[in-house]
Amino acid sequence: MSTPENRLQELRAQVDEINLHILDLLNQRARIVSDIGKVQAQLGTSFYDPQREAFMLQMLEQHNQGPFSNETIKALFREIFRASMALEEREARAKILVQRKTPDDRTVVTLPDGKTQIGNSLFQVITGPCAVESYEQMDITAAALAQRGVKILRGMAYKPRTSPYDFQGLGEEGLKIARQVANKYGMFITSEIMDKSQIEMMSDYVDIFWVGARNMQNSFLLKAMGKVKQPVILKRGLSATLEEFMYAAEYIVSSGNPNVILIERGIRTFERWTRNTLDIGGVAVLKLETHLPVIVDISHSAGRRDIAIPLARVAKASGADGLMVEVHPNPPVAMSDAKQQLTIPEFNLLMDALDEVEIKPHAARETANGA
Ligand code: PEP
Ligand code: MN
Repeated sequence: MSTPENRLQELRAQVDEINLHILDLLNQRARIVSDIGKVQAQLGTSFYDPQREAFMLQMLEQHNQGPFSNETIKALFREIFRASMALEEREARAKILVQRKTPDDRTVVTLPDGKTQIGNSLFQVITGPCAVESYEQMDITAAALAQRGVKILRGMAYKPRTSPYDFQGLGEEGLKIARQVANKYGMFITSEIMDKSQIEMMSDYVDIFWVGARNMQNSFLLKAMGKVKQPVILKRGLSATLEEFMYAAEYIVSSGNPNVILIERGIRTFERWTRNTLDIGGVAVLKLETHLPVIVDISHSAGRRDIAIPLARVAKASGADGLMVEVHPNPPVAMSDAKQQLTIPEFNLLMDALDEVEIKPHAARETANGA
C-alpha cells in the first residue's frame, strides 16, 4: 500500500531524475553553442546575436504550457544564455596572447647590452625629467641618476600637453640631446612617440619606444609598434579599464612585437588631492592576468612630489617590476610638470627608501590563487 512517505520518496526520485536529465541537456546545449561560436568565428560574425536571442525567447513563450509564467521561463532561459556567453568569453580570453597561461609565464625584456632587463627579479627604476629642455639639464640629471645605477633614461622630446599653448617639447633636437647624454653615461633612452610617421626618425635615437596614456587606444599606432624591433612601453589610458589596457597591449603583441612593458599611471577619479588615483590593485591584477612586466608611474599618478617615497615603497612592495619617476635639477623652473618632479637630493632619498623594501622575486605572482 502506498503511504504518503512512500509517495514522497517516489516523487523525489522523479525530481532527481529530471534534474540529471536537465543537467545533461544543459551541458549538451553548451557544447552545441560552443560549436556555433566556432562556426561564427569562421564566418567572422559576432557571437552575441540579440535577434537570435529574442527569437528563442519568443519560441519558448509560444510553447509554454505552464505552470511557470512566461516571465519566469524567460528569466530562467536568459540565465542559460548568459552562462553560454560567459563560457565563450572565457574560451576567447584563453586565446589572448598577453594573458598569463601558467604560473611561470613571464616576459622578460632584455635591452641591447644583453644585461639590463625588465620583468626579471630586479626592480628597475626608469627616470629622468618630464621633458628634455637643454643639454645641461639632461647632463646634470643623467650624471646623478647614473650614480644610483639607473639604466633607463626618459628622453622626452614630444609632450602631449593639455593646452596647445604650453611647451610641446624640443622635438628631434631633444632626441639628439637625450642620445648624446645617454651614450655618455651608458644608459638607454626611452621616448614617447606621438604618431607612426615618427618611427623611422625616432629609431635612430631611442632604445625603447613609449606610447603615452592619450594614445593607448590609437590602434593604428599600436599596430605600427608591433613592427618595430625595440621594446615598447605602453601607459594605461586616463580612464581605461584594465581589460582595455590589456587589449591595447594585445594590439602590439599580436602585430609581432612581444616586448611590451605596461605602466600604471593613475586613473581619473573624483579625488582632487592627487592628480590621478594610483590603482595599485590594478597593478596586482595585471601581474596576475598578464605575463608582461608592469611598472608603476609614481609621478603622473600623484601629481605631487611630497608623497613620492610612500608611493615608491608601495610600488616595490606590490610586486611590480619597477617604477617610473620624474627627476629635474630644478623643478620649480621646469617647462612641464613642475609640481611633481623630484630634485636630485629627493631622488637619492627615494632610492635609499627603496633599498629598505625587500621583495621576494615575483612576489605578486607567487600569491596568485590557483595560479
Ligand atoms: C609622461 O610620462 O611623460 C606622460 C606624459 O604621462 P601620461 O602619458 O601618463 O600622461
Ligand atoms: Mn610629465
